Amino acid sequence: MSEQKSKDKYGREFFEKPRARKMNVFNRSFRFGGSTAETHANDIFKLFENYEENKKPKILGILCDNGPDFSPSSWLVFSYMGKLWKDLNLDQLIICSYAPRSSRFNPIEIAWGTLSQALAQITLVSDHQKYNYKENKEDLRLMFIQAQDELKEIWSKTLYAGKQVNCVNISPSCEESPYREYDKVKDALKHGRNSENHQIYKEHFQFLLSHCVKRSYYLHFKKCKESGCEFCTANPIKNEQAYEFLEKFDKQLPRPILFEGFYGGDHYPSLLDLMNNEDLQKMHKEKEELFKSTEKENICKKCKWYHESAADKSRHKRYCK
Ligand SMILES: [Zn+2]
Ligand SMILES: [Zn+2]
Repeated sequence: MSEQKSKDKYGREFFEKPRARKMNVFNRSFRFGGSTAETHANDIFKLFENYEENKKPKILGILCDNGPDFSPSSWLVFSYMGKLWKDLNLDQLIICSYAPRSSRFNPIEIAWGTLSQALAQITLVSDHQKYNYKENKEDLRLMFIQAQDELKEIWSKTLYAGKQVNCVNISPSCEESPYREYDKVKDALKHGRNSENHQIYKEHFQFLLSHCVKRSYYLHFKKCKESGCEFCTANPIKNEQAYEFLEKFDKQLPRPILFEGFYGGDHYPSLLDLMNNEDLQKMHKEKEELFKSTEKENICKKCKWYHESAADKSRHKRYCK
């Protein structure tokens, strides 16, 4: 790989971080709809529309908290992120979340600090009496729209990583797009064969299962190289070099593992450390095998999907061919 590399304060080698682009914030109201796996997919879909066709990213990595709307263990997230991977014609889409009690390391927490600082001592819709808003749904909706407008004005002037924040307001009860089938997907997942939506989504889930790697805190969709796969033959891999690179560790990103002989056992080796050090690779492989042997009971023999729970296992069985 020809990318620039850099070292952090512990001496770990990394690919140079991509230059931070604009930070994008989508505002919607929990009272009028809130965030779901579907709204996240809609937001990301819109962000991709901002790219020129030949500059669209080929691989998307998502670092998320373990909330139900973005957890790699949620079937709704599986369905919508898989749909996004397909519709955006991405080579790969990887979602990782931090282990419990580690979400403070998530860069979004740091980004939020900047946004909340911009709101210090500010009351949104401070002049609501002037508009004579009443306590009914329609007035609440109007008041929320006003709050969104004021928020946008403040955050659009806020700088993050030297760039102005891009603030997108999703108005309450607006028709979101392109995905608008949340209840149907939910129903199909919940009731299986007893759902009238089962047939609509069955093939979608089956297809996604044959194109993903799932372990705890990790979900990874990728194109295959099977000549019989209609989708991947029609939409071939665009970045072969990155594809080969990501296949090296058991066809997935290596699991983060601490080693006593490396960084005092306090810090995880980086991906490049692993790539460049054969001893470390061997140690990693041994530990990985150990993990797998303890997880054996919870791994699907056909597709290696990691079952999060008994409910997950029976749902998985429904779609795994
Ligand atoms: Zn395929
Ligand atoms: Zn399976």
